[in-house]
Amino acid sequence: MSVKALKGFKDILPGEVETWQRIEQTARDIFQRFGFNEIKVPILEKTTLFKRSIGEATDIVEKEMYTFADRNGASLTMRPEGTAPVLRAYVEHGLQVKKPVQRLYTIGPMFRHERPQKGRLRQFHQLSAEVLGSGLAMLDAEVMAMAALVLRELGLTVSLEINSLGCRKCRPGFNQALVDFLAQHADKLCNDCERRRQTNPLRVLDCKNEHCREQYKNSPSILEHLCKDCREHFTEVRKNLDLLNIDYKVNSFMVRGLDYYCRTTFELLTDNLGAQSAVGAGGRYDGLVKQLGGPDVPGIGFALGLERLALLMEHQGLSSPESKADIFIAALGEEALNRAFILVHALRNAGLAATMDHQGRSLKNQMKQAGRMGASFTLIMGEEELSRNKVILRDMASREQQDLELSTDLSSWAADLKKIINQNPS
Ligand code: ATP
Ligand code: MG
Repeated sequence: MSVKALKGFKDILPGEVETWQRIEQTARDIFQRFGFNEIKVPILEKTTLFKRSIGEATDIVEKEMYTFADRNGASLTMRPEGTAPVLRAYVEHGLQVKKPVQRLYTIGPMFRHERPQKGRLRQFHQLSAEVLGSGLAMLDAEVMAMAALVLRELGLTVSLEINSLGCRKCRPGFNQALVDFLAQHADKLCNDCERRRQTNPLRVLDCKNEHCREQYKNSPSILEHLCKDCREHFTEVRKNLDLLNIDYKVNSFMVRGLDYYCRTTFELLTDNLGAQSAVGAGGRYDGLVKQLGGPDVPGIGFALGLERLALLMEHQGLSSPESKADIFIAALGEEALNRAFILVHALRNAGLAATMDHQGRSLKNQMKQAGRMGASFTLIMGEEELSRNKVILRDMASREQQDLELSTDLSSWAADLKKIINQNPS
């Protein structure tokens, strides 16, 4: 029996990968416009990093992390999210010294042992961005605007929901109000929420259970418990979003699944992915850098889920086609094959996506192959044409053919052919 991929781990095949590349390129381009620099961080980290940042009583740390002992017995974890590793690197390399406000982004796989379903995998990919060093509400609006711009340039429409989770000052009052509310509904809670009620009450609002969600519609609102500073900050955030013409809705029940958030949180939502409605999410995490042993600088960030973005692109008919050859060389006979081998290389050097059939099958067979590969042009090298130092260039779409004279200066010949092909892209 053949070995299959793990459940929740997916191959991204040719034909799918092009859409991923397009998403990544668009995001990189936009992140750069906003002054972000890329950082690459390891996939494996010490388990304590995530326990200390995401929080012990979160779903991620309690039941979703891929944690194991390595050969020396050290507890390691496959990163479930990107913020903690980026912040660890920021602290470790003292990046605050170089720039008082650091803008960093990273792209890569994350791992969570969840129940796999459409748009929910165990290995998934995030594009994430962090701004470290400013607590100003302008930055909150700016990162939301950046995330929204990525989606807009991809041709996707999503809605933005925002909330404020307050700070250490206002959270206890809200927690108490929530605990009181939950006590009144204790008999109707799911097992998870019953447990969260004791360990981390805020987490109940993130429950995916329909019955729980229905009840929480009447739960107290965090926005009514914000301290003066947090209230003002949230007002500023909304004002700044308005200044940038970013539409949003306030959703006071949005809490996010990680403990480190404070003040602003946000989600980018779609109606087209069933239960997996969030394509991206983020928020402010002032205090987290200090908690990880770094300077006391505020921070804000977000992550976009690549799988969900790719699904949305597919859903909206925006998938990119599989990349194709510009030109296929059909060579007939041994002499032609040898010359084609050199010619293909010259064409590639000139910047064309060129390919050939090294087996030298029949012309009919090779033309079929060129069609299957989606080549825009075919260059036919038959013995008879070669004896006259000629090849035939066939436009696969219009089926027009022309004779081309070969030259001993292959590189300038290839450059000329590239011009012809670029004039007639099919
Ligand atoms: P959800 O509520 O859907 O579980 P989350 O709150 O756990 O999402 P974050 O940790 O904030 O999500 O991650 C940000 C984004 O990463 C999500 O909006 C989503 O697009 C993507 N994401 C999170 N978990 C997964 C997963 N298991 N599979 C695919 N994408 C995911
Ligand atoms: Mg989750």
